[in-house]
Amino acid sequence: MYCPRCKHIVEGIKCPDCKKPTREPREDDVCLLTEKPAALGEMLADVLRQNGIQPLCMGALGAGLSTLLGANIEYLKIYTDYSDRERALELCDELFGGIKGEEAEQAESDAAEGEEGAEA
Ligand SMILES: [Zn+2]
Repeated sequence: MYCPRCKHIVEGIKCPDCKKPTREPREDDVCLLTEKPAALGEMLADVLRQNGIQPLCMGALGAGLSTLLGANIEYLKIYTDYSDRERALELCDELFGGIKGEEAEQAESDAAEGEEGAEA
């Protein structure tokens, strides 16, 4: 079921987060796919675009943590149309499923380099 308020797929007839009634998802409903640190989120968005899926990215600051660490910890929420969701989830699994430890750090720095290039 789909919660139009939170824009994500949930179990049951009421959303566990906002307690509003859910409904059957429609093809063009925008659903939350995942939330990732900005560099990984950008990477995922690129992969989705390369596969013909147009993602919607929304930034979210981890307020408490960024104050604590004095660092700019930004998370990206990635949304896709419901009709693209299944494929997007597969791509997400392919991208992040195999990435562990050092590989993840490598991928993260690669994505950061790409970001700098785009800004210049
Ligand atoms: Zn909700």
